[in-house]
Amino acid sequence: MATDLEIARAATLQPIDAIAARAGIPEEALIPFGRFKAKIDQRYARSRTEGAAGRLILVTGISPTPAGEGKTTTTIGLGDALNAIGRRTMICLREPSLGPCFGVKGGATGGGKAQVAPMEEINLHFTGDFHAITAANNLLAAMIDNHIYWGNALGLDTRRIAWRRAMDMNDRALRSTVASLGGVANGFPREDGFDITVASEVMAIFCLARDLDDLQARLGRIIVGSTRDGQPVTARDLKADGAMAALLRDAFAPNLVQTLEGSPALVHGGPFANIAHGCNSVAATRLGLSLAELVVTEAGFGADLGAEKFLDIKCPSAGLAPSACVVVATVRALKMHGGVAKADLGREDVAALRRGVVNLARHVENMQGFGLPVVVALNAFTTDTPAEIAAVREAMAALGTETVHCTHWADGAAGATALAEAVLRRIEAGEARFVPLYEPALPLAEKIRRIAQRIYRASDVQIPGPVAARLKRFEEQGFGHVPVCIAKTQYSFSADPTALGAPEGHVLPVREVRLSAGAGFVVAICGEIMTMPGLPRRPAAETIGLNVEGEIEGLF
Ligand code: ADP
Ligand code: MG
Repeated sequence: MATDLEIARAATLQPIDAIAARAGIPEEALIPFGRFKAKIDQRYARSRTEGAAGRLILVTGISPTPAGEGKTTTTIGLGDALNAIGRRTMICLREPSLGPCFGVKGGATGGGKAQVAPMEEINLHFTGDFHAITAANNLLAAMIDNHIYWGNALGLDTRRIAWRRAMDMNDRALRSTVASLGGVANGFPREDGFDITVASEVMAIFCLARDLDDLQARLGRIIVGSTRDGQPVTARDLKADGAMAALLRDAFAPNLVQTLEGSPALVHGGPFANIAHGCNSVAATRLGLSLAELVVTEAGFGADLGAEKFLDIKCPSAGLAPSACVVVATVRALKMHGGVAKADLGREDVAALRRGVVNLARHVENMQGFGLPVVVALNAFTTDTPAEIAAVREAMAALGTETVHCTHWADGAAGATALAEAVLRRIEAGEARFVPLYEPALPLAEKIRRIAQRIYRASDVQIPGPVAARLKRFEEQGFGHVPVCIAKTQYSFSADPTALGAPEGHVLPVREVRLSAGAGFVVAICGEIMTMPGLPRRPAAETIGLNVEGEIEGLF
């Protein structure tokens, strides 16, 4: 069977100006990067986004398993199918990070016949956005140490510097470092460390900012540390915000590419869905809504994390309201939730599927709780059997939700036509009554409790005294109105990654809370959370290389 890369390379791409024309973007707003990629001028983007009329479709998934679900693949397949049946549709995705590309997961451009292209370029340096974000992050880091070197007029406590350096690579060796070694000329030694770029606050800010003014204002609000008496010190105090915004200006323009079937796609921004909110940029989503009748976008991880943050962080901050939600599942992954080992997933097992389908059911109920009509996309694998598919259909029908078994991975747009039609029926019935889970005025601890009880079905949260005191302090500093961004394992509704299915009655332990004042949320860390991943024993990087034609091989 052809690999994703082989399928992508065999496709004939259209010049990017033809894709722009199809999307209704005038030539003068196009900033081409070679023949198949372009940025969209931000003055044009900004002029468009007031009164955007498009409808937004959120694609999310069940709790991920090693069996794979295919949210990106389904987002692309659905977008292609909507275009194929004559609805002007734009796809909005995140840019891939180099970490997963060279690690274990691979790229993030979809799969099979549902891909965005050119996949090698999108997965590697693309238009340089992540390099710009890394540079902006590290400029602030350099200015912090430089400020201390030249006398520390702001009185920064070097033991309390929260700002870390960033790099877009899985490199566990850099998690904890010591900076400024080597003598008087090199400054004051202190403990430091690196986060992967996609976990940085600059990435979250980049994705939530509405325009360049908002971007610069948010960068200025970043809290880098505190003085000895606990007063926060910001990027604005260091006068770093202007230069950071200057580094990000060009990157902030959304990137246009195409799917293998010629649908326009905006691929822009890429925050992790654990420490940040895990959705593509507000700038790109709003541009898409101003151009197209329909926008299909993906939220990372399972719906308890990615979609909850999309709905409680991104939508309220950007003034967005989805019209429908697609929850992606696979028969294989549901059997894993029902206790089947990965090696045995090829065998029919309706009983295991019925045990595991509770995971899907709960995600569907949760999305319905936000007032969204839901369609289940059962992403087809060749091993799925009619009895297994029927069991999913039956369980979803009990929730008033249609299940569409779709084959866009194998067949492209044609394989997702029925899904597109089902989603359109729900949108056109005008059923969406979107309401976020909580109001800004709810105290921070209560916001965490509400997410834990309503979305994770925990009996309660456990917030130790010092953590509760920090939340109170954030409220006193004027940050009580912000949403909370929960950092927890994506594998379970609980904080225990081994509790698959639909656990309930568990207690959510909140270990630590951090204020991301620029991004505009409080991160509540529940369990182990990795802001700098490591490579596996056999990283994907070992099998990537160039062939005699100079083409890239081994990316997936
Ligand atoms: P997610 O967005 O949920 O992380 P992706 O859409 O990126 O998942 O898909 C992950 C991998 O699974 C890709 O390599 C893709 O080619 C593969 N995949 C997706 N759907 C299918 C399918 N129906 N059959 C086989 N492989 C698939
Ligand atoms: Mg994805």
